[in-house]
Amino acid sequence: ADTHLELDRAPTEVRDLAQAFNMMLGRLSAAWDQQRRFVSDVSHELRTPLTLVHGYLQSTLRRCNTLSEPQREGLEIAASEADRTIRMLQDLLDLARADGGHMRFHIERVPLKDMIVETVEMCLYPSDRVNVDIQATGFDARADRNRLKQVLINLIDNAVKYSEDDTVVKVRLKQEGEWAVIQICDRGRGIPTTDLTQIFEPFYRVDEDRSRATGGTGLGLSIVKTLVEGMRGKIKVQSKPGEGSIFTVSLPT
Ligand code: ADP
Repeated sequence: ADTHLELDRAPTEVRDLAQAFNMMLGRLSAAWDQQRRFVSDVSHELRTPLTLVHGYLQSTLRRCNTLSEPQREGLEIAASEADRTIRMLQDLLDLARADGGHMRFHIERVPLKDMIVETVEMCLYPSDRVNVDIQATGFDARADRNRLKQVLINLIDNAVKYSEDDTVVKVRLKQEGEWAVIQICDRGRGIPTTDLTQIFEPFYRVDEDRSRATGGTGLGLSIVKTLVEGMRGKIKVQSKPGEGSIFTVSLPT
């Protein structure tokens, strides 16, 4: 008899549960929106004074020829940190915008071969450092040209940054069914398996990099992932410590 009663009550309980769940979801989403707005406002507000600080530091370094070596060194470090923080704020702004669905994508047919070659040339790496290997030509991807360029630059920069100067970074392009597949392969130090699932999280850096004072922000890959997914593409990574990494971006054709 008890079970029967339970069953009788079930629909109401389920409804109550669903209502409570929806209410929680609503609150969660409002909190999320608030957090996003906060990040975006703070980044925006901080960028202006920091740009000013950076400008003054640069002009002092350029104009003042009475600086002692330690003074110059100190100012150079300050300028480079200001510059890194400005980039980080810009990245945070981008992320907050994309996450809130406020980033506009201008999707068009992009001839991938030309765009990859153009991007690699634009980055001015030594000619034997980045090698482009196009296996299929004459097909386009549906993507946002500028955002895709940003994705490629980020991934190629990482591949160059995290591998030795005497190794080659390969950028491959092939077609797989409905997908245009771009791979960025390096023979660098690789990423430990335990870090692999997290490297696309904002601010995540593999231990060794986290302790380095200068360099990256740990935001690059989370932006890359957001941009790729915003273009209805997919991104994955394979890596073996000590052997290298392959980042694969697939875009609809
Ligand atoms: P960062 O600004 O630190 O480069 P990213 O978000 O671009 O931030 O990358 C996150 C972390 O993932 C890096 O700090 C680095 O530890 C690791 N990583 C990214 N790309 C590579 C790569 N090609 N080879 C080895 N490690 C990489």
